Amino acid sequence: MTDIIHLLSDSVANQIAAGEVIQRPASVVKELVENAIDAGATRIQIQLKDAGRTLIQIIDNGKGMSPTDARMAFERHATSKIREATDLFAIHTMGFRGEALASIASVADVEMKTKRESDEIGSCIHIAASEVISQTAVSSTNGTSFMVRNLFFNVPARRKFLKSNATEVKHIITEIQRVALACPEISFSLHHNGAALYDLPASNFKQRIVHLFGSNMNQSLVPIRNQTSLALISGFIGQPKYARRTFGEQFFFVNGRYMKHPFFHRGIMQAYERILPKEMVPAYFIAFDVDPAAIDINIHPTKTEIKFENESAIWQLLHAAVREGLGKFNVVPSIDFDQSGSFDIPLSPKSTDGLSMPQIQINPNYNPFDEVSKPSPVYTGQRAQQQADHWEKLYGPPTRHHELQLPDEQEQTSFAPMQATTPAGQGKNFILFKNKYILTPVKSGLMVIDQRRAHQRILYEKLMTSLNQHQGVSQQLLFPQTLETNASDAALLLTMLDDLNQVGFDIREFGSNTFIINGIPGMMDNSNATGMIETLLEEYKNSASNLKERNREKLATALAVASSINYGTQLSQEEASSLIDSLFACQTPNFSPSGKPVLDIIPTDDLEKKLK
Ligand code: ADP
Ligand code: MG
Repeated sequence: MTDIIHLLSDSVANQIAAGEVIQRPASVVKELVENAIDAGATRIQIQLKDAGRTLIQIIDNGKGMSPTDARMAFERHATSKIREATDLFAIHTMGFRGEALASIASVADVEMKTKRESDEIGSCIHIAASEVISQTAVSSTNGTSFMVRNLFFNVPARRKFLKSNATEVKHIITEIQRVALACPEISFSLHHNGAALYDLPASNFKQRIVHLFGSNMNQSLVPIRNQTSLALISGFIGQPKYARRTFGEQFFFVNGRYMKHPFFHRGIMQAYERILPKEMVPAYFIAFDVDPAAIDINIHPTKTEIKFENESAIWQLLHAAVREGLGKFNVVPSIDFDQSGSFDIPLSPKSTDGLSMPQIQINPNYNPFDEVSKPSPVYTGQRAQQQADHWEKLYGPPTRHHELQLPDEQEQTSFAPMQATTPAGQGKNFILFKNKYILTPVKSGLMVIDQRRAHQRILYEKLMTSLNQHQGVSQQLLFPQTLETNASDAALLLTMLDDLNQVGFDIREFGSNTFIINGIPGMMDNSNATGMIETLLEEYKNSASNLKERNREKLATALAVASSINYGTQLSQEEASSLIDSLFACQTPNFSPSGKPVLDIIPTDDLEKKLK
């Protein structure tokens, strides 16, 4: 019998390694940008075409490579960053495995130009699918530039696994945010299909945060600092009133490298306990500087989790630093949420600043909902009355379409609704602006409601009720629809089937990744059930993973997004009115289930100022 074990060829071995290191365009961007940082670049430019599928170009002004190093760099386990195993305990660079370039070159067409300052002429090397196609001397500027074309051209399975361009760009942006925050002294630019996404000048940490996340951050950020022999903990935390429902502004760094650290995250959340409702997360940007020997970064190549030697002591220091930051800025006592917990006042500082509590003369016999004879087609909740009262106390009564239809019966009480007037001169209560916003006058100014987010909020609360009370109402489809998915989506959908059927879907597995949709919840539009489920799966996979969010909440959020009305949908007055009634019957009308604002009020004062 002949022996059967043989060594894999380099290109196969590299492709296997690439499977771990290079999963998507964002991984290429991450590896190449980290190399540029390790090479001492002060300016890094990134250009993408088609979310990096067709082209990823990265230009740095770092130290460049010699012609021999240029060739060596693409060998597996080729690195200039460590020599001995003991070097692993003193890593100051981003990379050290010597795997990235070999991996990228095994699954793409790569052209690299590089020149050191001390050399007259640079070199250009072209490698595709691990095969060196050419190496030539070229004239070029100091530094290194990479053109990575047609990622995964030789690995169709990987290519198929890629998501929509929007999703892939989102992953790239996340990577850029991480390195850009870790290295504010380096300038970065990011272009996609010719359009600039970021143009970040060299700056300090705080300015970099503001450049990346918007000027609101400027008011929100509170500095923290705690120096001990174990670690220097420094950075910024966000004030509670700027906290959001979704993740995306939480960053830890250790020795200049981004890391995830669920345990430290909990330390921060505990410091905010009782200052924030439990579903909200504050922004934080916190750097730990520790002795490199006290951490272990030599774990899985793509994992960003890092092990600390003195984890619980550092947890205490972090917790204390955050508490101190919150206390010093008087954040703690100024905010006091009661247990009902919902934000009934829009959180945006613009609207709250100009908002004073309106003086209302209460007519105890007046019930604004008496006139609503038909139940709202979208939502009727027990809390409707209570919430609506609350809302009206804050903003004055809403205006209602049925009062419009009966203008003569309008009572001239202190509660008389205000009317907006359309150009046609007809009284109308809701102005439907660009089929995106509903505008309506309220006591303190002009309220602007985002129709899609409002609908998402309504659907979300209704879905959560169905899930919790097992009472989803279903409408049967006239023609059952067939949904074919790939294997991983099928597996995901299977995990959701119970909950989906609970809220009123009637979906059955039909074998070989196929499902039959017989019915959908009564509250949803039935014209494209398969499209809705596909969007649901995509939303579910892409939604920011919220540690505390339970699966059902995540499902309800994704489903609300997938089945909500789109921008561009023209609502009738009737529909706008019912949407708004249902919105204010919600527990948390001000935020969409993914934490985005649903409404804002432009204060009358602001309008008057503008028109002075
Ligand atoms: P690692 O970063 O783990 O060392 P890589 O495969 O990413 O492994 O890179 C291999 C080597 O190529 C690096 O150690 C470095 O010497 C060199 N190199 C890669 N990119 C650059 C760059 N942009 N500028 C200068 N040298 C680079
Ligand atoms: Mg590297």
